[in-house]
Amino acid sequence: MPAPDKTQPRRIVVANQKGGVGKTTTAVNLSTALASRKRVLLIDLDPQGNASTSLGLPRSERGAGTYAALLGSRALPDLLRPTRIPGLSVLPADADLAGAEIDLVDLPQREHRLASCLDAAAEALRAYDYILIDCPPSLGLLTVNALVAADSVLVPLQTEFFALEGVSQLTRTIERIRRNLNPSLALEGIVLTMFDRRNNLSEAVAADVRSHFKEAVFDTMIPRNIRITEAPSHGLPVLLYDIRSAGAQAYVELAAEFLRRERRAARARA
Ligand code: ADP
Ligand code: MG
Repeated sequence: MPAPDKTQPRRIVVANQKGGVGKTTTAVNLSTALASRKRVLLIDLDPQGNASTSLGLPRSERGAGTYAALLGSRALPDLLRPTRIPGLSVLPADADLAGAEIDLVDLPQREHRLASCLDAAAEALRAYDYILIDCPPSLGLLTVNALVAADSVLVPLQTEFFALEGVSQLTRTIERIRRNLNPSLALEGIVLTMFDRRNNLSEAVAADVRSHFKEAVFDTMIPRNIRITEAPSHGLPVLLYDIRSAGAQAYVELAAEFLRRERRAARARA
């Protein structure tokens, strides 16, 4: 694997083609937790724009965002917005993003649009340590663009009976992207979400996922927590909504584990 360019932020895509598994929650709260120590940009690539909403940008206040960047009508650095979290910026999902899956089809280099605009913005993006990308619940062109642009993919898995169902489809997509479009795409890891420790099934599913994916699975599990469910309606990451909640604390731990794993990987490369 080529040594990563230290002057460029690592690009991590949060993907799983299932909806409601905790992609957006993980993208928003891992970004927020990382921002206390690192400089982070969150790219909202989901037309639903839930990550933008969770960071205090309701639909009516978003203006141009990811779609304008992908279509090349605006330069990406001009579209970045600060958030109320110091150290965290967002490239919001604009209203037009809903049409992107169709509009991108006929464009040249359609799988490389996001990678190209990030590369073109390299100078401005030096201001960041990490770029996290929140994906829609599909393996369509938007997610493919994210996987082509990324260094690694982080997969949230809901700790429920059907957790592993559908993962093979995602793994095959990652393999295909590696073969054809982005040979250096790595698996950042798997995060178990909505874990319920009072439920034996949750324990069994977690054990099953760990025996299948081994050390790719983060030790930190995100519990099912009501404060996580409530936070987005207040336009806040759970870390700002209720830092003492079990949900917020889990994301603080996840960020710490993420950074430990990053340091270990960097040492292994050296
Ligand atoms: P995705 O982006 O994969 O579709 P979300 O992150 O939007 O999933 O989560 C789906 C729903 O579940 C949201 O309403 C969110 O607030 C809620 N949710 C996510 N993670 C948790 C959790 N750990 N505990 C409770 N509710 C959660
Ligand atoms: Mg989402």
